[in-house]
Amino acid sequence: MSTVLRGKDTILHFSLLEGQARAVLIDSTRLCVTARRTHRLSDTASVALGRLLTGAAIMGDMLKNDRASVTMTVKGGGPLGALVAVGMPGGIVKGYVDKPRYEDPDGNIGRAVGSDGMLTVVRDSGMREPYAGQTALVSGEIAEDICSYLAISEQTPSLLSLGVHVTEKGISCAGGLLVQMLPGAGEAAIQSVEMSTGLFAGVVSEIEKWGPEEAAVQLLSHLEPVELERSIPEYRCDCSRERVERALISLGEAELRDMIDTQHGAVANCHFCRRRHRFSAEDLEKLIESMKQ
Ligand SMILES: [Zn+2]
Repeated sequence: MSTVLRGKDTILHFSLLEGQARAVLIDSTRLCVTARRTHRLSDTASVALGRLLTGAAIMGDMLKNDRASVTMTVKGGGPLGALVAVGMPGGIVKGYVDKPRYEDPDGNIGRAVGSDGMLTVVRDSGMREPYAGQTALVSGEIAEDICSYLAISEQTPSLLSLGVHVTEKGISCAGGLLVQMLPGAGEAAIQSVEMSTGLFAGVVSEIEKWGPEEAAVQLLSHLEPVELERSIPEYRCDCSRERVERALISLGEAELRDMIDTQHGAVANCHFCRRRHRFSAEDLEKLIESMKQ
């Protein structure tokens, strides 16, 4: 196991108990650091959004089609406002939170997110119409909420642990572990996995101490893990000037003329990477011309 590049995040996929279960373990430290820097997140927001991004990276990396994505929106009614994370194949993620500077005095994430609301998950296969599922939040602590969604909406009972450790110097470690039983799992296998719940909860401390590969050995060795594949997840936004142009064109000529007359152009702020895409009145004139061709 020497192919992990130091200085990069890692997702490791395992088959457990001869195919009766599977596990996905992620070291998401760097992608959470990038999110914190991009959005200038408070400690509270770093943990809340970091957990959701880590969950999205795991679920994104389980997608098969390159154009597929999974978008998770948490609206719990707490002072952080809504949190959004998008996961794509390879564990590529992006996300944002409404109130990135909010700090809970006690670092209470469930209270900052709130639990009076819903988790909405939109799965886009990249081929058919996107499928949306929704479940009530359990605690606003994110991992429990995603677990509840997977069990109720997708009928996939799962164990999920997500964590982000923050010190005075910033994020020191982030990661997670998802374990799912597979169809045909026997009673003994289910018991072995369930008995490990307490162990799995310490996943981030194990990653911080040992690194992701050794953490996987520490947490999963009694479940006969066989590594299947690995990815290098990353925080990355796929927005571009061309995409914004297409969105502007879809507004139609009258709307663009109005932008030229009232604002002398248009500015589109990307929620995910905070880039500003600026269009002068001249740029908009050119778009209108291109619509006529
Ligand atoms: Zn962007």
